Amino acid sequence: MPELFIGGRWIAAVDGGKREIHCPADGTLVATVDEAGPKDARAAIAAAREAFDRGPWPSTPAAERGRLLSRVADLLERDKAALARAESLDTGKRLVESGYDMDDIANCFRYFGSLTAAGGTDRIVDTGDPGIDSRVVHEPVGVCGLITPWNYPLLQTAWKVAPALGAGNTFVLKPSELTPHTAIMLMRLLTEAGLPPGAANLILGAGASAGAPLTEDPGVDMVSFTGGLVTGRRIMAAAAPTVKKIALELGGKNPNVVFADADYEAAVDYALTAVFLHSGQVCSAGARLLIEDSLHDRFVDDVVARARAIPIGGPFDERARTGPLISAAHREKVEAYVDAGLAEGAVLRCGGARPDDPALADGFYYLPTVLDECRSEMSVVRDESFGPVLTVERFRDEDEAVALANDTVYGLSGGVWSGDVGKAHRVASRMRAGTVWINDFQPYVPQAEWGGMKQSGFGRELGPAGLAEYQEAKHVWRNLSPRRLGWFE
Ligand code: NDP
Repeated sequence: MPELFIGGRWIAAVDGGKREIHCPADGTLVATVDEAGPKDARAAIAAAREAFDRGPWPSTPAAERGRLLSRVADLLERDKAALARAESLDTGKRLVESGYDMDDIANCFRYFGSLTAAGGTDRIVDTGDPGIDSRVVHEPVGVCGLITPWNYPLLQTAWKVAPALGAGNTFVLKPSELTPHTAIMLMRLLTEAGLPPGAANLILGAGASAGAPLTEDPGVDMVSFTGGLVTGRRIMAAAAPTVKKIALELGGKNPNVVFADADYEAAVDYALTAVFLHSGQVCSAGARLLIEDSLHDRFVDDVVARARAIPIGGPFDERARTGPLISAAHREKVEAYVDAGLAEGAVLRCGGARPDDPALADGFYYLPTVLDECRSEMSVVRDESFGPVLTVERFRDEDEAVALANDTVYGLSGGVWSGDVGKAHRVASRMRAGTVWINDFQPYVPQAEWGGMKQSGFGRELGPAGLAEYQEAKHVWRNLSPRRLGWFE
């Protein structure tokens, strides 16, 4: 069966484009899928436009839309094993982690299902005149172009698709060209749950050819994008001529601030998961360890000893705790950042190379790496390397910790570790980031907003604001007893 889903039908790319998908863990061919070009993208936009302008979905009662999302959550739970396996083959991610992702994805649909069904966002406005009925209602934005990355393919997709549909929009989804399979499976589940044709459309293909039309076409009302900063800037510029609503999640270079009075064992443990989870390919990764000077030597020694011992392997290796990078090109990018850091004076404490285990030779693996004595002007500290690379900087006091934490163009997330609750909250409130964890790193729940400050982007996913992102507020004013005004008499 072809893999593009347009107007409720599975079709092949008009120009016959195909792409091979390989597993990053060992290079094996997973499948060959259809590869859309601009014509397919425009056909998908037209289908979504038709479904929005003339189809039943936007005017389906909110309670029914919410019920559909809850049904999708049930189907995701039913198919969890197959979805997790597909995600692991595309990304190289450990199967158990893909399984956690699938649970989170089902929860996301369930959350937006109940939020949608509950309604309650419309409100009556008291104008002070009983002869006026004034209310603010919330309507869908229209056709949404949803562009998602390869690191959490279905999770990032769910964060967009569930609220977009909940609000009554139609959409065209373009997942990363590298990780298409769970998006294909989601289209089948949406159809099985009863979504009308044209409300959900899927194009697979490269950003420049299949993705770009979503950002330029006047038939698209909104673009929601998660990915890199450079692409985000390009999308913002491409959306300007047609003044599309946009939401951007552009990653981060997130500080993990550890004070000497922190719970030592927990802080060491979380310093590792903060950055080495999924080989550092996490937008909220705590890739910058900011450590109080007096704790530095012992703490970094322990982090390095633990990092050296992390078992590496493919998605189905139950011993492994971390896996490969997504592609050869991405690994080269990570290597270039490490090389640049070393040239600028960073001290390599561990990693900095590909593993020498011959069993891993066909995958895109890179050893967990710790670079000590870093400074915030180094490119490996400034830029998102998006790999298993922890940089270490020292601070002497609270003010310096905050200054270093904020010395980045990004503002997605950050962590602060301290036994002093007042200090931890002071630092958290001064950190310019969309999410701050105190004595923790990485957890999130669908009820709480997620998104960035500064160049990490704008707009929020998850939480009530994540639904509002896909809505327009409209003020409807009704004069209950209109009389001549006589203004021009
Ligand atoms: P990109 O930002 O290039 O890609 C993300 C998505 O945007 C993909 O679906 C991509 O398509 C698409 N895209 C690319 N160019 C365009 C365009 N002109 N118009 C519309 N869509 C486009 O991420 P990369 O995969 O190249 O990764 C680059 C860096 O981005 C990483 O090294 C990392 O630093 C960061 N990143 C951040 C993520 C986050 O969660 N915030 C997630 C992933 C990456 P395609 O892949 O098909 O080209």
